[in-house]
Amino acid sequence: MRGLLVFAVLLAGAFGTETFVGHQVLRIFAADEFQVEQVKGLEDLEHLQLDFWREPIHPEASIDVRVPFHSLQAVKVFLESNSIRYGIMIEDVQSLVDEEKLSMSHNSRARSVATFNYASYHNLDEIYDFIDLLAAEKPELVSKIQIGESYEGRPIKVLKFSTGGTNRPAIWIDTGIHSREWVTQASGAYFAKKIIDSYGQDPSLTSILDNFDIFLEIVTNPDGFAFTHSKNRMWRKTRSKNSGSSCIGVDPNRNWDAGFGVAGSSGNPCSETYRGPYANSEPEVKAIVDFVKSHGNIKAFVSIHSYSQLLLYPFGYTSKKAADQAELDAVAKSAVEALASLHGTKYKYGSIITTIYQASGGTIDWTYEQGIKYSFTFELRDTGRYGFLLPASQIIPTAEETWLGLMVIMEHTRDHPY
Ligand SMILES: [Zn+2]
Repeated sequence: MRGLLVFAVLLAGAFGTETFVGHQVLRIFAADEFQVEQVKGLEDLEHLQLDFWREPIHPEASIDVRVPFHSLQAVKVFLESNSIRYGIMIEDVQSLVDEEKLSMSHNSRARSVATFNYASYHNLDEIYDFIDLLAAEKPELVSKIQIGESYEGRPIKVLKFSTGGTNRPAIWIDTGIHSREWVTQASGAYFAKKIIDSYGQDPSLTSILDNFDIFLEIVTNPDGFAFTHSKNRMWRKTRSKNSGSSCIGVDPNRNWDAGFGVAGSSGNPCSETYRGPYANSEPEVKAIVDFVKSHGNIKAFVSIHSYSQLLLYPFGYTSKKAADQAELDAVAKSAVEALASLHGTKYKYGSIITTIYQASGGTIDWTYEQGIKYSFTFELRDTGRYGFLLPASQIIPTAEETWLGLMVIMEHTRDHPY
C-alpha cells in the first residue's frame, strides 16, 4: 500500500493533478452539542486537511468529511477515544474518481444537440460547444448571451430561451456555482434539451415559454469547473487570489449582498466557506447581480447545488421568516412530491436556516430581497453514498426527476403573476 501511495503521489506530481488515493469519506454522528463542537474543533487543525462535505451543525444532522490518507489514523483515534460514532461512506475516494474518469474517456466531440451524450460528465469545452450547438441549431428559440468574464478571463455564458416579446417576465436557473457538484452542470445540459424538445409538444412548458423567457446558466463557476477537470476534482470555490493568503478562491454562495459577513460564512481565505473580502467581489457573482438588476423582470430564480436531496427557500442568514413563507412552503411541498413521483427520490424542504444551517451571503437570500418571490435552491442527489462523486449512471434519473420539480415552480410562477 505504501509503495503504491508513493507511486501515486509521484504520478500526481508529474501530471500536477491532485489524487485522493486512500482518502476516505467518513460519516460522523455526533450524539450531542458537545460532540458537534469536538468535531468542529478538527476543522481548525489545518494540518489534517479535512474537507467537510457536510458541515458539523447540530446533533441530528450527520457530518460527512473527506479525510486524507495521512490524517485517517489520527481522526479515527480521536473519534473513537471520544466515543463519537462514525462509519465509512467512501472507502477510497480515488477509486470513484478513476471510475468517473473512465466513463468520460468515451466522450467524443458532439456534432449536434441530438448526439450530445447527456448520460456522461463533460468538461468545460464540451459544455461550451454544446451551448454553441444549441444556439446554432435552434435560433428561433435559443440564443446565448455573455454576462461577464470569470476571474481567469473565461466567458460567462447564459442560454436564453425565448419565443419573442420584449423584456418578458423571466425564470432564471443556474447550475454549478460550486464547481465540484458535477451532477448539477450535467442536469443543466439535460434541462436545455428538455426545453427545446418540450416546446410545442408539452402544453404546460409551451404556455410557460409563450409568456416567459427562461435563462439557464449551466457553468456558473467556469474557473472552478475547469480546475475540477484539470487539477483537483474536489474544488468548490472560485479561483481568485486572496491578498495576504496563499489560499485560493471564495465561496460564491457566501459572496452575495444578503447578510454578508454575518454568522454562517468564514472570514478565513483557506476555508471552503470563505465569503470573500466584500460582497460581489467575485466576478462570477457580480455578473449575475448586474444581469438580474438590469433585467428587472425576473419572477423566479432557482439555483441548483448538490448533494443532500433538499429543496430550500429563504432565508439562510437569518431566522426571520420570509414574508411569503407559507406560499413558498406549499410550492416546495408540491415540487418535491412531483420530483418523487418518478423514481421515489425523497427530498426534504424548508427554509435554509431551519433545514440545513445558518448560511450567510447566499444566492437566493439576495434574489428574494431583490423582490424575486419564487427563489429556491435545490440540493440534488444523493444523500451521501457517493456525495459529489455521483456515478454518471445517475445523471439522467437525477435530471429528469428534478425537471418535474422545476416544472411545478415554473407553473406556479406562471399562474401567480405579481
Ligand atoms: Zn453547493
